[in-house]
Amino acid sequence: LKELLDQLKGKPNETRDGRNVMVYCNIGSPADIDAVLQNDGGGIGLFRSEFLYLQGSDYPTEDEQFEAYKTVAERMGGRRVIIRTLDIGADKQADYFHLDKEENPAMGLRAIRICLTRPEVFRTQLRALYRASAYGKIAIMFPMITSVWEVQEIKRICRNIRAELTEEGVPMADKVELGIMIETPAAVMMSAELAREVDFFSVGTNDLTQYTLAVDRQGVGLDRFFDAHHPAVLRMIRMAAENAHRAGIWIGICGELGADAELTETFLSMGIDELSVSPSAVLPLRSAIRSIDTTTLAPLEL
Ligand code: PEP
Ligand code: MG
Repeated sequence: LKELLDQLKGKPNETRDGRNVMVYCNIGSPADIDAVLQNDGGGIGLFRSEFLYLQGSDYPTEDEQFEAYKTVAERMGGRRVIIRTLDIGADKQADYFHLDKEENPAMGLRAIRICLTRPEVFRTQLRALYRASAYGKIAIMFPMITSVWEVQEIKRICRNIRAELTEEGVPMADKVELGIMIETPAAVMMSAELAREVDFFSVGTNDLTQYTLAVDRQGVGLDRFFDAHHPAVLRMIRMAAENAHRAGIWIGICGELGADAELTETFLSMGIDELSVSPSAVLPLRSAIRSIDTTTLAPLEL
């Protein structure tokens, strides 16, 4: 089997009827790049930047972050690298943030909510990201979005940082795509409006399942109820895809569900443009995509 999969290296993720799907990788640290390259990943669809914040005993500096992002961008050599801004809080805690203990951390001050509440933390990360953008094809993605105003505020901060860096004479890429995670039901319901604000969507099915079904993703004894195949979740993904395409932007999936072979046909039927999976899942997924003829797929029963 490994030899069969190895033969797929260098081949396109193309369906029998000629549709191309981007198959990217999820990574948690720059060390994972080796596996991405070995498995012929087309890009990084989700670089969870939390490791930078969880490994030390204080906030990572702008320079430390810059070095990490630059390394990833350079090693991916022009292939797209989507770096997600800080998604701490809830399950992932760092003491030096001094976050209050919360009754419902999954619904608390996490991810983008921390960044918009503590702009200096956000600005440090964004400065590092824009500086690194000169060294490859970096895109920035924001987690846990629920509202259009959040995205407008984020874009305002990004514009300010670009202006600041330009003033300082720091080199940057001309275009740095901005995207959001679709991982709350609110983001799905607002996806028509949100799609007009950003360059791409990426569905976080882990959180989207948790919030749609009101089932704790880390809960004990809830396996039967944490059903990512639930039609409610799949309809959410379909709706986000329709609204993304109406607005002319692309949409991917970076949650665990992206690698679920039982759903590859479903995702292609919905027109999903990108699947971001663990490096070891790239070639099996390529094999599945290459065996599908989307013109003969039964209509979605959702
Ligand atoms: C998700 O929620 O599906 C996701 C990709 O993000 P994380 O698992 O890091 O919350
Ligand atoms: Mg998530």
